Amino acid sequence: STSEQYRDFDKSKVYMVDLESGLHYLLRVELATHKTLEGVELKTFKDFVTVVAKLFPGRQSVVKLLETLLEWLVSLPLEKIPYEAILDLANNKMRISGLHLSERVQWLGCQGSSVALRGYPCSLWTLFHVLTVQAASRPDALANTALEDDPLAVLQTMRQYIGMFFGCRECGKHFEEMAQESMSQVKSLDEAVLWLWRKHNQVNARLAGSMSEDPMFPKTQWPTPDLCPTCHEEQDGLHVWNEDMVLAFLKKHYSAANISPKYTS
Ligand code: FAD
Repeated sequence: STSEQYRDFDKSKVYMVDLESGLHYLLRVELATHKTLEGVELKTFKDFVTVVAKLFPGRQSVVKLLETLLEWLVSLPLEKIPYEAILDLANNKMRISGLHLSERVQWLGCQGSSVALRGYPCSLWTLFHVLTVQAASRPDALANTALEDDPLAVLQTMRQYIGMFFGCRECGKHFEEMAQESMSQVKSLDEAVLWLWRKHNQVNARLAGSMSEDPMFPKTQWPTPDLCPTCHEEQDGLHVWNEDMVLAFLKKHYSAANISPKYTS
């Protein structure tokens, strides 16, 4: 049956099970639609693995798996890698290390009121918010990689990934338009955190009331006042964001300390 029981969760938390399920889906489902990776696709995948291996604040076994994948990708002189080889490696490492990317996809903070809603796209947003926040709080984490010293490292990697691999092509097109418009104005790791927040709200505004909205999770301008009262201000009767407060909130909300291990097994 498709209707697993709905489980209560806390909207003020981020859940590791969503992040791991997202990685699982990305590696085993989304990537699988590309039979071989070469050229810019391979470069994009390498950058993605670099960013997650270095910045994902995950369980040790998951980080180890990502690091092994990265070492392998970097050491391979191949210009073309069959997807099967990536899958084999992931499977082998997971068997040897006693697994640890959850064997199946399950959502908690990203669960929808039906299987077609929320889930993977929600986890991907969450993952990239976590990664921009990690990059800002650990500026040296990407030292000695191809992405070192670039405040745009995470955003550019996301942009490439979404444009090339994300199953929703329409989303990729929209995201690319937003990136072209303003991503180059981002000059610091903190600005990268705020840029992604702003663009995500722009998407929320566009999708409010649309087919892809889960009626149980209406699209809002986020964080709502109940999550962050000080993020909201009024100027001449109009709502404005206090961006210093928003930045502080994002850095707390998407920090490693706010990621709950609930339901990771
Ligand atoms: P999501 O929007 O997925 O958000 C997940 C969680 O992030 C929320 O529950 C909340 O806790 C938090 N959050 C919400 N807003 C913010 C914010 N501003 N900053 C930080 N955290 C926030 N769908 C379409 O139909 N058309 C599109 O063009 C489209 N473009 C997309 C582009 C990208 C890059 C991605 C990853 C997804 C896109 N989607 C698009 C999917 C859509 O944005 C949602 O992910 C999907 O509808 C599921 O919505 P959701 O309710 O789970 O919340």
